[in-house]
Amino acid sequence: MSVPENRLRIAVQKNGRLAERSLDLMREAGLRVMKGANDLLYRIENHPIDVLRVRDDDITTFVADGVCDLGVIGLNVLEEHAARRNGPRPEVVMRLGFGRCALKIAAPAEATWQGPEALAGRRIATSYPGVLQSWLRERNIEAEVVELHGAVEVAPRLKVAHAICDLVSTGATLEANGLKAVETVLESEAVLVRAPGGPPEAHQHLADVLTDRLRGVVAAQG
Ligand code: ATP
Ligand code: ZN
Repeated sequence: MSVPENRLRIAVQKNGRLAERSLDLMREAGLRVMKGANDLLYRIENHPIDVLRVRDDDITTFVADGVCDLGVIGLNVLEEHAARRNGPRPEVVMRLGFGRCALKIAAPAEATWQGPEALAGRRIATSYPGVLQSWLRERNIEAEVVELHGAVEVAPRLKVAHAICDLVSTGATLEANGLKAVETVLESEAVLVRAPGGPPEAHQHLADVLTDRLRGVVAAQG
């Protein structure tokens, strides 16, 4: 893949919950998005901008390393990346008002919740070990964090863990698995991020223009 150095680069999720809204946002900001020869890279016809379409977990790495100037990512993914990796982190430019969800602790619905201290000495399954560990540390709670990458909500039933820490939007998945949300660890939504310290000089103006337009679009959506 060759990516011309003179074009501003924006990373967005390729497939998934944020993918379509991220591209819609670009279009609403006046960018004419053209599908490229490969589906990794889309071109903006009316501005020197390329859109890199990748796994959401990789967006933080691309933006942190300055490979991309801007990115659209869930705050949850950004915080997990920051919790796990030392060094410069992408900067949040603005909240985008979609992809709202919350990272919550959930426990078996039938048990009475005694507060976060009840997690001491317990096992908690999650795909967000970094964010969860910092939340536990802030509360001086020592619990065992079990990292899982799928079907986190079945962990209590399988006796893999006592509780889980997972993304929740409606709560239907928790309920279907006999769980209830008991603590909120992080409120999340999609955010626009930029490379640490901002884009290089050559991209600064275009990045500012685009950011202003996006701000207008997001404000209009209320
Ligand atoms: P990828 O293939 O890019 O790694 P993914 O499976 O990790 O995708 P998605 O399930 O597409 O991620 O979710 C992307 C983001 O959407 C989440 O990180 C979160 O910020 C947001 N989101 C909004 N509602 C929910 C929800 N109910 N469950 C999970 N994520 C949600
Ligand atoms: Zn992902």
